Formats: sequence, C-alpha cells, structure tokens
Amino acid sequence: MTAWSFDPPLGQEQALKLLAGDLERGRLAHAYLFEGPEGAGKATLARSLAARMLCRAPGAACGRCHACRMLAGGNHPDVLELPREVTELRIGRFMDRPGVKSESVDHQPLLDFLRFKPMEAERRIAIIPDAERMRSEAANAFLKTLEEPPGSPLILLTVVSRDRLPATIVSRCRLVAVKPLPPEKIAAELARRGLSSGADARDLAMAAEGSLGMAMRLAGGDALELWRWLIGEGFAKPGAPAARMLAERLQAFGSGVDSAGKRDSAVAALDLAALAVRRMLRGTLDARKGAECLAVLWEAADRVRRNVAVDLALSSAAYSLMAAMK
Ligand SMILES: [Zn+2]
Repeated sequence: MTAWSFDPPLGQEQALKLLAGDLERGRLAHAYLFEGPEGAGKATLARSLAARMLCRAPGAACGRCHACRMLAGGNHPDVLELPREVTELRIGRFMDRPGVKSESVDHQPLLDFLRFKPMEAERRIAIIPDAERMRSEAANAFLKTLEEPPGSPLILLTVVSRDRLPATIVSRCRLVAVKPLPPEKIAAELARRGLSSGADARDLAMAAEGSLGMAMRLAGGDALELWRWLIGEGFAKPGAPAARMLAERLQAFGSGVDSAGKRDSAVAALDLAALAVRRMLRGTLDARKGAECLAVLWEAADRVRRNVAVDLALSSAAYSLMAAMK
C-alpha cells in the first residue's frame, strides 16, 4: 500500500469543492466515481475524502489523531483499499482461469468487509482504484452491493473513463471529474520541490501526462532519456514494431542499471514503457496484446520493488514483451 498523504491533490479545487459541499450538507452519496486520466490524483482525492470523514478534527484531516494515524499506517479497521498492482479485480468467488491467477485478486473479502458494521467510524469506506479492472462478472457481483449496501458504507471508485464501466454502476455513483494537471503546473511544482528545472522539467511534465506523481518518479533517474527516445522515434512507429523497439530499449536500460540505488529509475522506466503501451493502444496495437504487455510491465515493476536484480527484471520483461507481441 502506498503511503497516505493528507495534503489535498494539486489543482483539483473544483472536485474538492464538490466533496466539501456534500460533506457540509451532510449529504454524502453512497458511492463516488472519480473519473480522470492516469495519475491525475483520483486516488488521492478518494483518500482525502476518506480521511476527512474519519478524522475527528474539524475541517481538513489533521494527520495526527488516532484515526489519521491508523489510516496512514494502512490499518484502519473501517477502511479497505484494494491493491493497485493486480490487473484484474474479481469480486465474489469465480473459477480460476489458468494464467491469470497471479494477477488477479478474489475480493470476497471486500463483500465481507462491507457487510459488517464499522468498528470505529460511522461508516465503512472501501476504495477501489482503477475499477475498470473488474470484469463483467465481478461488476455484476459488485452492483448488488451498490444497490443495497448492507451497512451503508461509502464506496469510492476511480476510473480513467466511465465508458469502461457498466452504465448500471455509473448511474449509482456520484461522478467527480478529476482533471489532468496542465504541464506548466507540473513543471512549476517540480522546480518548487527542487527536483528539476528548465527544459528537463518541461519534458518531464509532458511525459507525465497530467500526473505530478509520475513526473516526480521520472525526475529521479535516467528515464528522461528513454522518454525523449519514445517521443522522438518510439511513438512514430505504429503497433508491434514500436513495442519490439521498446523491449530492446528496456533491455538496454536495464543493463546500464546495476546498483540497488537505481531501483526508482527502473520503476520509472517501466512506468514510461506502460505509458507508451497505453498510447499504442489508442493507436494500432491489438487490445489483447496490449493488455498482455501492460501485465508484463506491471509485474516487472513489482519485481523491481521486491528487490529482484534490476537488470534481470528488465531483461526478462523485455523478453516477455517480445513474446507477447508475437
Ligand atoms: Zn486526524
């Protein structure tokens, strides 16, 4: 689980105003759907709403009280946040399909969590990032919960586009639009934090596509060069050839990264590669192959974080990418 921050996300004043209004009127919806591009702060907004509800201090969450400390430690008994690392969210008990088991999570625990009364708070809160990872059977199981939530929990979903969810789910949620941060805001923030400046900061801001979090990760390492190659050449070649070149670049990147201190930059490179694949998906890359490539990249990032040798993780990711493109 990523660390909780109690700072409201940058540049989301409109969304924050909507949520604050609902809170002040005491008219929170059962479910909120935060819709916006990758990394624009959807999960941060969901978390800030959760923190604000649970914190006993008036106004914004204090970050210091018992409830806030439990939240920050990821062990508040009334908050369940589903993991972001898996490619498929399954809700209820379904047959395991060969090959997808390790990338999926069976979320019977989510339904159990929602069924029980809160222990500390007034309502239980479930955060479901990237809800598009629910396949149709999971979405159906989940829909029942949304229709008749047993203990009136608060359900917070995030999604890149509501089109990726069944309309029956969307219609039961209050929609919160989360806008991408303009590149100049990201560049200015990178400079303010002393992470990057000038042309580098502007390129990082472009690479991050509206996500400050991603820009910050990229600023740490040598991934900027990989990005410059991607926009220069990588994106010019459509579909499979670009993915193959991307695999070669990843492998080369990995062989230049040997020390454990370079983990962050390897993760940033994998983030960039995933971004490249998503761009290719909008273009000409076959959707099934694209999904396989993304799964490979996420798995590799996970392995790098878990201390697998960086060069090994990247070269095996490159190999699997090639295999996925066959
Ligand atoms: Zn607090």
